[in-house]
Amino acid sequence: MSEPVAGAGGSDGAGGSDRADPAGDPYAWLPATIVSSVAQTPRARSLTLAVPGLRPARAGQHVDLRLTADDGYTAVRSYSLSDVRASDGARGAGGAGPVPQIEVTVERLDDGEVSPYLVDAAEPGDPIEVRGPIGGWFVWPPTEFEPESAVHAVLPEPEGATPPTSAPVQLIGGGSGVAPLMAMVRARGRDAPPMRLLASVRDPGSRWYVAELDEAARASSSPVVAFSATEGPPTAGLTIDWVYSRVAPDGHERPAGRLTRVELESLVLPASEHPLVYLCGANSFVEVVAGWLVELGHAPTRVRTERFGGV
Ligand SMILES: Cc1cc2nc3c(=O)[nH]c(=O)nc-3n(C[C@H](O)[C@H](O)[C@H](O)COP(=O)(O)OP(=O)(O)OC[C@H]3O[C@@H](n4cnc5c(N)ncnc54)[C@H](O)[C@@H]3O)c2cc1C
Repeated sequence: MSEPVAGAGGSDGAGGSDRADPAGDPYAWLPATIVSSVAQTPRARSLTLAVPGLRPARAGQHVDLRLTADDGYTAVRSYSLSDVRASDGARGAGGAGPVPQIEVTVERLDDGEVSPYLVDAAEPGDPIEVRGPIGGWFVWPPTEFEPESAVHAVLPEPEGATPPTSAPVQLIGGGSGVAPLMAMVRARGRDAPPMRLLASVRDPGSRWYVAELDEAARASSSPVVAFSATEGPPTAGLTIDWVYSRVAPDGHERPAGRLTRVELESLVLPASEHPLVYLCGANSFVEVVAGWLVELGHAPTRVRTERFGGV
């Protein structure tokens, strides 16, 4: 795709209103600017976008991004927000002003149309269009529904469980699926319930936000554990578990390989604690892991999923 120009015509048929009044239409396209760009790995990049007029976003939500080429061709893709803390415009990155800012983190798919552009070519100062934030279920802190609401009629809470807002939180991400989970980790306040993150990546070089996660786990006084099958669940703070599907770091006690059901059981908060589980990644990863979680006794009401596509 050639250099995009925000606001030009054309469409790839993704739908949505075009240049609607932002005040009246929450899904209007908003002109935005890339303000910073940070490589997470050679294949992935975090982009901070300044989006005047954006509504405050919640951790777990995503936005649609629209790129427009010189010839008017447009492409739209969805990206989870990996940081929502400055989305209310209160504190922009680096002490920026009141313009709302959000971060997305994009992994390059070599045969993809949009992700190679966002990872390899997009630069600070470039225009882009944003629609959103979108999503009301895969969000943390979780939405509270009235006890008599239709949601609870369909999905009753498990017996004896604490309300979702105070439940311990288990985050499970496959590959780029860690993006919205990072927003949740970053959105933790002092009184947040314990959080445990299980991230499955190809190899050590594919890990995102490593230094920040290490520091957050250290600061929360929970040890960072590389593979804690024998240690049991943490009781407080933030715990990070990495598993490697293709190449494990030297000396790592767990050999590389796909996550198994047995490992999953030892690496997530037990069903008896009724954790709220947020599971995100490619379709097949989410499908398989969600099935295992239910087999392990996790109530379907407590397993919230987000699928990124792919196989
Ligand atoms: C709600 C939502 C949130 C998302 N959040 C993120 C995010 O935070 N970070 C991120 O990097 N991506 C995210 N995605 C995926 C993103 O929207 C694009 O699908 C992805 O960047 C590929 O776009 P592309 O134009 O490069 O590839 P395309 O040209 O659309 O597709 C190229 C090839 O890749 C395959 N493919 C498409 N999507 C995926 C995928 N997710 N995994 C594996 N193969 C795929 C296609 O089938 C095709 O063969 C999200 C998707 C959804 C629905």
